[in-house]
Amino acid sequence: MPQPVATFSTLVIEQLAGGITAIGINIPDHTQNVMNQRFIDELSQLFVLLRQNPPRGLLVESRREGSFLAGADIHRIDAIWTQSPAQIMDLCDKGRNLLGLFSSSSWPSVAIIDGVCLGGGLELALACDLRVATENQKTVLGMPEVKLGLIPGWGGTVRLPRLIGPGPAIELIASGESVTGDQARVLGLVDACVSSSSARASALQLLEQSIATESFRQRRHDQQQPRLLEKPEHDFLLATMGAVIAGRTKGNYPAPMAALETVVQGSAKSVHDAGLLESKAFARLAKTPVAKQLVRVYRLSERNRKDGGLCDLPKASSEDFAAVQRFDKPSVVGAGIMGAGITSRHLRSGFITNLVDIDADALQKSIPVILEEAAWDRYHQKTNQKKASELTGLLMSSTQLSAISESDIVVESVTERTDLKQKVLAGIEAVVSSSTVICTNTSTNPIATLAAALSIPARFCGMHFFNPVRRMSLVEVIRGPDTSDSTVAAVVLQAKRLKKVPVVVQDSPGFLVNRVLTPYLHESVELLREGVDLESIDRVSRRFGMPLGPLELYDMVGLDTAFYAGLVMANAIGDRIDASPVIPALVKAGWLGRKTGCGFYRYKSTGHDAKIASVNEKLWTVIEPYRLPGRQITDDEIRDRLFLPMLLEALLVLDEGIVRDGCDIDLAVIHALGFPAFRGGVLAWGDSLGATEVVRRLDQFKYLGPRMIAPARLLTHAESGLPFAAVGERVPVQQKNV
Ligand code: NAD
Repeated sequence: MPQPVATFSTLVIEQLAGGITAIGINIPDHTQNVMNQRFIDELSQLFVLLRQNPPRGLLVESRREGSFLAGADIHRIDAIWTQSPAQIMDLCDKGRNLLGLFSSSSWPSVAIIDGVCLGGGLELALACDLRVATENQKTVLGMPEVKLGLIPGWGGTVRLPRLIGPGPAIELIASGESVTGDQARVLGLVDACVSSSSARASALQLLEQSIATESFRQRRHDQQQPRLLEKPEHDFLLATMGAVIAGRTKGNYPAPMAALETVVQGSAKSVHDAGLLESKAFARLAKTPVAKQLVRVYRLSERNRKDGGLCDLPKASSEDFAAVQRFDKPSVVGAGIMGAGITSRHLRSGFITNLVDIDADALQKSIPVILEEAAWDRYHQKTNQKKASELTGLLMSSTQLSAISESDIVVESVTERTDLKQKVLAGIEAVVSSSTVICTNTSTNPIATLAAALSIPARFCGMHFFNPVRRMSLVEVIRGPDTSDSTVAAVVLQAKRLKKVPVVVQDSPGFLVNRVLTPYLHESVELLREGVDLESIDRVSRRFGMPLGPLELYDMVGLDTAFYAGLVMANAIGDRIDASPVIPALVKAGWLGRKTGCGFYRYKSTGHDAKIASVNEKLWTVIEPYRLPGRQITDDEIRDRLFLPMLLEALLVLDEGIVRDGCDIDLAVIHALGFPAFRGGVLAWGDSLGATEVVRRLDQFKYLGPRMIAPARLLTHAESGLPFAAVGERVPVQQKNV
């Protein structure tokens, strides 16, 4: 085996037989290979060396398992906030020119993509003449820049459409989604997709062929040409894809549309001019508040990924994770809407999972739903039937609790009734070992109340998933008065293994998410009582960026469930927000929302996925007895009446130490409620207004009473000018008697 000839700190250079040079990427001090400044400098130096001593061919690979190159180091992105558009364009031009060295050298190059290959990593691979992907499950290729409010800035919008065609390129860039190695092969993004073990041999074979036939020269020539679009194709892309993007972004995220325009316009230009167009669009996007918020949200997610859940971040390091209990025998009890979703999530993460429900019929019905969801292929937007049949082998089901006796973690998700839950939890404890961790998915029961049924409450906590489990990635890990640190840490880790975003919260009514949701939902009904049109309320909320309006959400959750949750919340925060009389009246009328085909709206069918047919025209007869004096109210007032109370509740949650810091609140509302990420979360939205402006806006709603009165914390912020959601010291969520 030939020995390395030169070693940089991020690159390992190796001379292979036949005059081929191999570059192995290995970025120290990171869990993934990322493009940091050192890597960029060393890549540049390497080309100087290669030009002095040209190889016959170049092979680019990773020396880190599962990671080819995962895009730009986030610190590099942070650096652009302080730069002028001209400086940002200059940075893009330099990066593109650096990668251009791969295709302007006298020798061909091949990239072996074995592991994560995203953003700048894919731009580097695209700059090579040939690409071989692997069948490794960790191999994904994509350009997720739009998720940060940006577009690729190092030639991605120029090279990708010339390689796979403008339509597929726009789809990949504008969606930010990634593809597997095999999907990349079908798209023409890579030349081959092989097993990891044969990747080097395949890459070398392709490289030798390319050298022998000089075919890389023709490829380079083709890549340099404008990709002229016929008028129908041009119009189709702009009109049809434009409409799809507008539908997805609702005009709130400028990057996908910028990707479309940049690719379409750039296709008609020379590679050089298309590159300049890309730099200009990138620089413009980098100066938008949306990009800034999305990058902040990304940072919060990264922070969450490294967070052990117990205390301040530096103290909860990766060493702590190593000591945390890992589960491999999970069980779920309750096969309803939530239990099915939770079980699917386990299967998707590869866990052999036991599912128990007392009702054999419910169990039977849930199985196909679970398998379909677990095998859902996001890229093709349909269930992968082959995967579904493979997953069948991971799912065990039973009507008997004895079936879960070997489990190391159990998630209870049975009907929301305190006595029933206590009985089921005690039954679980009776069959499992004393080290098994037991969790509940309760929405409203205090953990303390449920823990009373257990003899070892230290191994018990809340593990609260959100509906639909498939889409909502938050999990509230709720520590009860006796929950041990090790239980919290183990459940946090387990949530991460389920690809969820865990946030640790204190045992308190509504926990975090339902607590901040309550004032928002309540206000929507108060607006109705004042005579505001139902559709206007939902429209304003959706225009703000919420996936559903509050009244649509009520119908989705179910009015009976909302009524019950409302009672719990009224007990806790009734001094400011009392239970609305409208919700019990709707329940009494039998209008429970989607499940009965009628609630605030009428539906075309019954059930979870039912579509709205019209407004419930009889609604006013039920609301009439509870009408409040009203007046003409503008859309801006509706928006403030809905979202300011949510902000005030979030500030109270912070004051009460229910979460460790405001960033957790922002992350939670985005991942549980679909609060618009481009606004950065509810506290970041408050920060974008500024505390003084929030106080001013609240002032006009004083007549509504305590629910619109600025809490002390808001006034303090207005005085100090400090933000609500700064990333600072965290206060541990302590064991506390509630
Ligand atoms: P569901 O009514 O759809 O399902 C409950 C299931 O529990 C049923 O299949 C029932 O047969 C089963 N069950 C009842 N008694 C049982 C027993 N003794 N042993 C085993 N199984 C038993 O309810 P859901 O909406 O899935 O809610 C389940 C839990 O999740 C509740 O605690 C609820 O508060 C919580 N939750 C619900 C939502 C939501 O939006 N539906 C969101 C978050 C959390």
